[in-house]
Amino acid sequence: MSEPSIFTRILEGEIPSEIIAETDNVFAIRDIAPQAPVHLLVIPKTPEYRNVVELAAGDPALLTEMIGLANSLAAEHADGDFRLIFNTGAGAGQTVFHVHAHVLAGGLAEGSLGG
Ligand code: 5GP
Repeated sequence: MSEPSIFTRILEGEIPSEIIAETDNVFAIRDIAPQAPVHLLVIPKTPEYRNVVELAAGDPALLTEMIGLANSLAAEHADGDFRLIFNTGAGAGQTVFHVHAHVLAGGLAEGSLGG
């Protein structure tokens, strides 16, 4: 078994971080290093999937649940519009290999990718 991910340790209360929302299978926290006025992470409770490609292949309903929670959080914490990012692979900036969605919202830049 590999070491528990940082997100599992947060979920289990070993590392302090407020859980701002949760469903049966998914939870959300604030990113410790925000890149937007609202920057949340939506994370499956299971550590089984390393990235969104594995998740989509293995449990598409869980991916749908993540997107639903992202949508609710964007409405609660911003104006409802949001950008959803799944870094996939170290070369794309992924540092935690427990799949998670970055939810960016609130006064994002004009460019299509935020430039
Ligand atoms: P990745 O780079 O894998 O796409 O995203 C990992 C994210 O987790 C980063 O944006 C990073 O700031 C965030 N992060 C890393 N450690 C912690 C932590 O201990 N608490 C919180 N709230 N976020 C963290």
